[in-house]
Amino acid sequence: MNTAEKLPLIPPIDPGASAEEIFLAGRALAGGKIALACSFGIENVVLIDQLRHHLQDVTVFAIDTGRLHEETYTVADSISQRYGITINWYFPRHTDVEQLTREKGQFSFRESLANRKECCYIRKVEPLQRALAGFSAWTTGMRRAQNDTRAGQEPIEIDTVNGGLLKINPLTFWSEQQVWAYAERHALPVNRLHRQGYPSIGCAPCTRAVEPGEHPRAGRWWWEGPGHKECGLHQRSEPVVGGNGAGI
Ligand code: SF4
Repeated sequence: MNTAEKLPLIPPIDPGASAEEIFLAGRALAGGKIALACSFGIENVVLIDQLRHHLQDVTVFAIDTGRLHEETYTVADSISQRYGITINWYFPRHTDVEQLTREKGQFSFRESLANRKECCYIRKVEPLQRALAGFSAWTTGMRRAQNDTRAGQEPIEIDTVNGGLLKINPLTFWSEQQVWAYAERHALPVNRLHRQGYPSIGCAPCTRAVEPGEHPRAGRWWWEGPGHKECGLHQRSEPVVGGNGAGI
């Protein structure tokens, strides 16, 4: 029996559902331990604030690829202090990074899509797999409007790529304007790079500021085509519940 067969049927998620309602629906479905992935971008900060009454029920984790901006560590500390939470950091396997950099140098990801995916696998995907071990669900700050590759995401999905656990995306229906208005209204800690033209923040050598009018993810792996703006952490999952109709 796979995970989908074990899950109870629930009503589809209404686009008007709050982030907290979506999280609670996912938590009820998961019925086990829940992780929350944090990369310390604005969506993640809003997500943590929206779920602040439930943080004792989740394990917050982050992946330190070894190539992050200093500003990301700064906001991570601010969030940890503000909400009184421990950030469970995961790092790449040092032997893999040593081998990669000895064989291909520090910037192999610029040479080809295959090399970039190799680096993302070693520094992000493999640590993610360890971070998710033993959890029934993970929670993310992903939004549909962030990128074409996310346009079809559902608020609650089965993450078939990571072994069939649930993936809960409470901010699925939020717009960028909503996210920023919420962050400013609640004076949330914001990564300084957002104010310097970085709407989306990843590893330092693979992220640049965008020009006014450019797509928000245009600064991620800017040398690649728009169809490749993911690192492998968020490959397409299977929806459990739909985005239309009545329900929560
Ligand atoms: S974003 Fe760039 S530096 Fe970071 S893991 Fe991917 S390829 Fe490597």
